[in-house]
Amino acid sequence: MIRDLLPAYCKAYQKDVASYSILISTMIDGHEVAWMEFRGGSGERRYRYRMLKCECQFTRGLGWDVEAGGKPYGIAGKADDCSKRKEMVRLRLLELRNEYLKRFGAERNSAVLRDHIPEIVDDLKERIRHGEFLEDGNGASFWGGYFYLQTLAEIVDPTMNYWQVGDALVAAKKISLEGAVVRDYHEPPPAEWEECFRMEKHGWIGIASLPAHSEMLRAWKLDVVKPNGRPAFKKSVALQLSYGPTFGPDVSDVQCAKQKLLELIRKAKSRGKRKKGKK
Ligand SMILES: [Zn+2]
Repeated sequence: MIRDLLPAYCKAYQKDVASYSILISTMIDGHEVAWMEFRGGSGERRYRYRMLKCECQFTRGLGWDVEAGGKPYGIAGKADDCSKRKEMVRLRLLELRNEYLKRFGAERNSAVLRDHIPEIVDDLKERIRHGEFLEDGNGASFWGGYFYLQTLAEIVDPTMNYWQVGDALVAAKKISLEGAVVRDYHEPPPAEWEECFRMEKHGWIGIASLPAHSEMLRAWKLDVVKPNGRPAFKKSVALQLSYGPTFGPDVSDVQCAKQKLLELIRKAKSRGKRKKGKK
């Protein structure tokens, strides 16, 4: 049980056992999974957060260990992938789903839940504010939000296209998205671009820029400049990115942008020639 594992864990990490409380404990095939609260810090830097934990994460040699020098460290991998903890999340989402089916009188027709997505979003947000358990890990709060779109889909309809649903909620000014994390709605800042690279071909210059913040369409902005310094196209060309550029663009995305720029330069050059030929 977690209670039996905590003393050794807290001793290694020099923490007070009393700062760990088990709010909800569930046994799954003899393995304890618990919704826990942690308190720490002092004065201004006091903190309190809740997370789903299981025995694995507190077991020495599985979730953590101690270096030769006595320093504790977390072990990534096995403890993170615990199937019992995953099962606990599945059961919780199923429980919520049944609750909403009842609330919206849809016991026989689960498709009805899709008509109540805004209310469900509000209700889930309220639950998070009250510290209820919904997801494993604290990814959503790390990104300043409540929960992931995938979680909403698990509750409402696991087959739905949750990106489409998310985009519709954003368009209705119901939520904002940070990746797939649902956040309170706020007006997005104006679009801004940062030049990523440029390439030159016989005096023609292709410029590839990336979105400067995450609330923009995930796409390259491609521009071509003529040898006389003027833009070759009235409008920039957008090219969808395959991967989020948070830590710089993916190699395959750069390759695509380069190809597209060469194509645009060729197009601009041949257009220039046609115009000259007409005169
Ligand atoms: Zn476990």
